[in-house]
Amino acid sequence: MTKPLSGKIALVTGASRGIGRAIAKRLAADGATVAVHYHAAEDAAQQTVAEIVAAGGAGFVLQADLSARSGAATLAERLSEQLMERFRSAQFDILVNNAGLSKRATIEDVTEEDFDRLLQTNLKSPFFLIKALLPQLRNGGRIVNISSMGTRAAYPLMAAYAPAKAGLEALSRLLAQHLGPRQITVNSVLPGATATDMNVTARDPVASRAVAETIALGRVGQPEDIAKVVAFLACDDGGWVTGQEIDASGGQRL
Ligand code: NAD
Repeated sequence: MTKPLSGKIALVTGASRGIGRAIAKRLAADGATVAVHYHAAEDAAQQTVAEIVAAGGAGFVLQADLSARSGAATLAERLSEQLMERFRSAQFDILVNNAGLSKRATIEDVTEEDFDRLLQTNLKSPFFLIKALLPQLRNGGRIVNISSMGTRAAYPLMAAYAPAKAGLEALSRLLAQHLGPRQITVNSVLPGATATDMNVTARDPVASRAVAETIALGRVGQPEDIAKVVAFLACDDGGWVTGQEIDASGGQRL
């Protein structure tokens, strides 16, 4: 049977671990060739690719620092080079902006430096990565931006992070309108507390119980829970959904 993403090519940023790794593995299992972007952990990114290949899929790694001003341009160039080498065309189908950075701090404790780094990584780099890659994203393609349910509930400790993610959601909505004529869909996925390196509480078996009490389905999320939502948006079945903020939190703080 043909897989839902057979013949497609995807770029997943921040795919060396956590939610990004789960998305990369899931899109590859669904048939896509996946460009696994990482920042510093080359071994971990190679491990993502090894797991993809072991499951019968295809992928390759790409490095770029998305907290740097030039990071998006570097990543776009490296992707194009790899695609030309492997496929003799720089075109691709699915862009997942997953890489992100959080800092638990109220407004009193956020420095201008923190603010700039969080805005750069969570909003400015995705913006310029999309801008750079739009000419080579095929018509009928997909953009999925990973935001956070922290944009729809008040978490004072997300003073710089939540505004950056809210900007990403606004960008997704207007791009959905702008790119509609090309049949490209653009959506935001909003994870809730998910057990990854970023979320110490959700990873801790004891602390996560208190968080689970704020979640309708009674547990914290696993990276694969988020990957399933992204996989739906990426495939044909998700093609009639665009410009949306899709909560993937198990119903956190409803
Ligand atoms: P994580 O910390 O395990 O992964 C974040 C990824 O972003 C890593 O692969 C990391 O290398 C990459 N990254 C960070 N700084 C970078 C930089 N300067 N350049 C390039 N890449 C960089 O956390 P995660 O939970 O897997 O996060 C994935 C996404 O989900 C993020 O956008 C995050 O904001 C979002 N999210 C997570 C949760 C949660 O509870 N875990 C909740 C809501 C939203």
